[in-house]
Amino acid sequence: MADQPNQEQEFQQRDGLWFYEDRLYIPNVAVVRQTLLSEYQDTPLHGHLGIDKTLAALQNIFYWPNMVDAVKVYIKTCSFCQRNKPSNMRKAGLLASGAAMLHCRLIAFVQGSR
Ligand SMILES: [Zn+2]
Repeated sequence: MADQPNQEQEFQQRDGLWFYEDRLYIPNVAVVRQTLLSEYQDTPLHGHLGIDKTLAALQNIFYWPNMVDAVKVYIKTCSFCQRNKPSNMRKAGLLASGAAMLHCRLIAFVQGSR
């Protein structure tokens, strides 16, 4: 339900960016969403954590409609995840610092693409 908002007041604009419930709204630009999915799934930092953890990490910071489906589809097409079980070895601190770095890079990216 929260993934399909229909109330505009849930969105807030700050510094030229849109936020939904304090999460950065990712515009419907395939390459941007694809980049995020890749960052949260394919990089050594996060690394193939499975649908639930990948989704939770993304939802912590970002928002776009139907993110759940996007994550499911992406992971189902990930050959590494299909061969291996998701890793449970990652540390929360590592995830948090990586997410903060990505957040900064993504804001620059989104602002630059407008
Ligand atoms: Zn994977």
